[in-house]
Amino acid sequence: MRHAIVIGAGLAGAAVCERLCTRGWRVTLIERHAAPAAEASGNHAGSFHPLIARDGNRMARLTQAGVTYALDYWRTLEATGAQFGWQACGALQLSRGAVHGGAGSDPAVALEQGQQHGGQPGPHKAVAARAVARDGASALAGVALAGGGVFFEDGGWVRPAELVAAQLARCSSLQGTDFVSHFGRAVGQVRRSGGDWQVLDAAGVPIAAAAVVIAAGGASADVARWFGQSTWPIDSVRGRLTVIDARACVAPRLPVHRDGYVLPAIDGCIVAGASYERDGALDASTADRDNLRRLARLLQLPDGVPMAPLPQSRSASRAVALDRLPVVGALPDPAALTHALVTRKGVRLSDLPRLAGAYVAGAYASRGLTWAALGAEVLACIIEGNAPPLDGNLVESIDPARFAFRALRRAGA
Ligand SMILES: Cc1cc2nc3c(=O)[nH]c(=O)nc-3n(C[C@H](O)[C@H](O)[C@H](O)COP(=O)(O)OP(=O)(O)OC[C@H]3O[C@@H](n4cnc5c(N)ncnc54)[C@H](O)[C@@H]3O)c2cc1C
Repeated sequence: MRHAIVIGAGLAGAAVCERLCTRGWRVTLIERHAAPAAEASGNHAGSFHPLIARDGNRMARLTQAGVTYALDYWRTLEATGAQFGWQACGALQLSRGAVHGGAGSDPAVALEQGQQHGGQPGPHKAVAARAVARDGASALAGVALAGGGVFFEDGGWVRPAELVAAQLARCSSLQGTDFVSHFGRAVGQVRRSGGDWQVLDAAGVPIAAAAVVIAAGGASADVARWFGQSTWPIDSVRGRLTVIDARACVAPRLPVHRDGYVLPAIDGCIVAGASYERDGALDASTADRDNLRRLARLLQLPDGVPMAPLPQSRSASRAVALDRLPVVGALPDPAALTHALVTRKGVRLSDLPRLAGAYVAGAYASRGLTWAALGAEVLACIIEGNAPPLDGNLVESIDPARFAFRALRRAGA
């Protein structure tokens, strides 16, 4: 039976486990915490929606492809009996100027210009979105909002830890699969041993060995060390979600975004977020105050509405690549990458030599819900040598070899 080791039990890792187990792989999952979804994927809830870009850029196309795939995937997962909290209730992206009282309306303008250019190019489904004025937005949300913007039909919210649990439960329940989890084991090193990858803890104690190893999600930042990648521009960006009692104010009926977001009341709580702490971590109370200020602005709450953060408020880190796109595919072989190779006439990323059996799926930044399922499916197809459900340019845009490729080309320029 084909055997893979997956490192990391968040949205990225759970999706990879599920995609491989359903294909009949033997899968060994390794997670440093005692339970899955203990880091970024453990938030109370998160939102998803497509993205509009005037020029239909790769980020927008990848986000649309991710949303389309995730919606199908979640429905299919549910049809197998899996239970997790989610709703495809749509989502609103308010215009920036509207919130600040100005006249700007960026998402609506981008939508209009995108439509003038024939919508989102490429083979993927066009974004189902429409511009809404303030009254229309407020009617959709069921609360008075600060302005209008764009309504995305394919938006909503998910409880990520429940989704992760549902995916792992499916792995265990599939007939004839061999799915083993090692919780409370932190991977310290990964090394070649014969034809296998051996995964060891920090003390050098072996945890598992297999021909295929996948560094999933937050583990991406360690990949450079484990697999000798000298060009690996993936940062860890902290952020905080603030959770308040749903009785504190009237929640919108759907996620409302601007420079942050507010989610509907989910299991008695309203989620407001999220801080993006690239230039140093904020203390929790400052981040909570900023999140609640954003919530009050979006929902036009009068001053003085008491809102106390509940203990479910939490901070976590997102793995973010320099170009903000995910990192999914086979790792390049650093020893075989040369300037002569990357500057050869007509050379493509896909021509670069890879480390046999070493893969990554992650750097999902603030879009883990949107990208993790598609990323896992793309990765499973790549591992099995099949065509992924994504056009070639987009597959290249998330190729883990792109960083080394560009750096080596630049180095010789
Ligand atoms: C404040 C905040 C708000 C967010 N809001 C949204 C949102 O609304 N919508 C959305 O789509 N996304 C949102 N995100 C992003 C989303 O949470 C992430 O994209 C997603 O959780 C990433 O999943 P992951 O599996 O890649 O990472 P993680 O959930 O971090 O999982 C990685 C796992 O790998 C394990 N691991 C790492 N190193 C090792 C090791 N050496 N050995 C063993 N295990 C290891 C970790 O313990 C962890 O469990 C938000 C993130 C934050 C921080």
